[in-house]
Amino acid sequence: MKSKLFLLITGIVVMYSCTQTKYAATNKVYKQQVKNYAKRLAEYPVKDSGGLHYAADWVGTTNLSMRRPNFVIIHHTAQNSCEQTLETFTLARTQVSAHYVICKDGTVHHMLNDLLRAHHAGVSKWGNTTDLNSSSIGIELDNNGFEPFAEAQISSLLTLLDRLKKAYSIPASNFIGHGDIAPTRKNDPNWRFPWKLLAEKGFGYWYDDPANVTIPTGFNHLQALRIVGYDLKDTNAAIIGFKRHWLQDTTKGLSNEQLKVLYQLSRKYMQ
Ligand SMILES: [Zn+2]
Repeated sequence: MKSKLFLLITGIVVMYSCTQTKYAATNKVYKQQVKNYAKRLAEYPVKDSGGLHYAADWVGTTNLSMRRPNFVIIHHTAQNSCEQTLETFTLARTQVSAHYVICKDGTVHHMLNDLLRAHHAGVSKWGNTTDLNSSSIGIELDNNGFEPFAEAQISSLLTLLDRLKKAYSIPASNFIGHGDIAPTRKNDPNWRFPWKLLAEKGFGYWYDDPANVTIPTGFNHLQALRIVGYDLKDTNAAIIGFKRHWLQDTTKGLSNEQLKVLYQLSRKYMQ
């Protein structure tokens, strides 16, 4: 019995050290960085700058909590394997990362605490919110950009989204793609991504059959795109972003049917 227990413990230790080997050095960097941030959070009296006149006695409030993410941004990695992405996100020179990487087989890698800022969105805008990195969780799906998304991967994604939505009270409207918040630079997740399925589960918005919709006179499609959230710096890019997400279409222009979809969505985003 004792030897069995010994073997079990040895097995666990060996397994643990095997999984630790490859990224041991970068895991150390992560831990050190988190330690530094934790130190800053623990500073009191709270230090600040700006030449203000501070009261002599510091009074700390009793009512506080951590800032919470309020958006989820979905990406495809545009790489060839999960392993390749893990490597990319652990090289200091790339300066890119995401909170989660989900492999094709459904394995989830949680690379940094949800309450920390990942570098996944870059220059971005949705509605009047800029710097989405500061307010979002980034999820990367292992996908080269030209293929469908694996079933096991989407299944893990849905479980993860459910947890995030509940944990941080993220509104349904705020589950969007990288191509939505940076339409001039990005096209991920690719048009095959199942946004409709996500919306049915409460992650994002969808529309009803456009056949029963009448567009009111004076409808302005650019205003509608802006209401949904698109940055209109480049209107063609915004239209393509909208079509990729809601119409699985990557061509230019908007047909009458597609305008009906846009009209419906703008109404949902106005609520
Ligand atoms: Zn991306």
